[in-house]
Amino acid sequence: MKTVDTELFKTIGSVLDPIEKKIVIVPHHNPDGDAIGSAIGLGNLLINRGHKVVIIFPNDYPAYYNWIESKAKTVIYNSQKKIAKRELEAGDILICVDFNDISRVGNMEKSLQNFEGQKILIDHHPEPKVFCDFLISDTTYSSTSEMVFDFISILDFEKFVDKSVAESLYVGIMTDTGSFSHNISEPNTFKVISNLLKFDINADEIHAKVYHNYSASRMRLLGYCLNQKMEILEEYQTAVISITQDELKNFNFAPGDTEGLVNYPLSISGIVFSVLFIEKEGHVKLSFRSKGLFPANQLAANHFNGGGHLNAAGGEDFDELENSLLKFKQLLPDYLHQLTKASNELKKLV
Ligand code: 5GP
Ligand code: MN
Repeated sequence: MKTVDTELFKTIGSVLDPIEKKIVIVPHHNPDGDAIGSAIGLGNLLINRGHKVVIIFPNDYPAYYNWIESKAKTVIYNSQKKIAKRELEAGDILICVDFNDISRVGNMEKSLQNFEGQKILIDHHPEPKVFCDFLISDTTYSSTSEMVFDFISILDFEKFVDKSVAESLYVGIMTDTGSFSHNISEPNTFKVISNLLKFDINADEIHAKVYHNYSASRMRLLGYCLNQKMEILEEYQTAVISITQDELKNFNFAPGDTEGLVNYPLSISGIVFSVLFIEKEGHVKLSFRSKGLFPANQLAANHFNGGGHLNAAGGEDFDELENSLLKFKQLLPDYLHQLTKASNELKKLV
């Protein structure tokens, strides 16, 4: 079971003491449910406490998260650069959530580096690169949103939690655990969930708002990818899916439409590693998911300028889609031993 460094949380909390200070919250680029939920949940909490808060998202987030209520002003850096830069210049405290490396904010990196006030990081990814003055980094948390709730509790801020805070943090925990299907062995996760449910939130409704809110074209894209694009590399117990820009256009791609797609091949018995390649302008975005002991983050960091968690990682390759796919396949023999080992360990469990 985890031990929480209460003293550290308290020290960092004291940075927030003068409530007149202006706080800027920043999640990572292409924010997922946890990045959005932890940023908005923390933002709403701090507003309820009397702070001035702005949330700057590096780029826009999927429409199925639009219903989450933010009391703080939100700015999208990519489309509102001037406003975002002005807010960063005016900020006294920067709180970065759900990322471990400043490069994860994309285009916004330089503006963050120039931030002159105190910087705090709240994150659950391994091996954080230090770019903040204060660090709460703990990989035993299911999600940054779960950490934010502990932060709130330890600082005795629960009196400032309301339904909007609880809903946002619930979204973060729900999405980062795949609706409570992975990273759920710590009792603390359910303790936090149980506390959040006391704030009159409707967990069934929240699930439906996120997962029953997709477009028909997104579902057709999923069907197309699984039916026509998924390649099973049996010897390596690996599945790959690659998608071109043209294919995405054919399915009226909207941000978030490929979120979760990489998880599907892991449902196949015997598959321990799943990789999704998405063609972007000038580069390829990769998503990695693994089962058991196979370190998706190591492969991402070693070969694709990336990183992440053991079982969920991502990266980028500045090459053509076809070359990237080829490079990946050529790497697999080097990982055969680790893939086989992970697979054998899993077989013992089934
Ligand atoms: P996803 O596949 O959902 O985009 O990302 C899964 C996880 O991989 C994220 O939570 C994050 O930890 C990590 N990740 C994704 N993309 C990158 C990247 O470009 N660089 C690094 N260092 N980590 C990434
Ligand atoms: Mn997260």
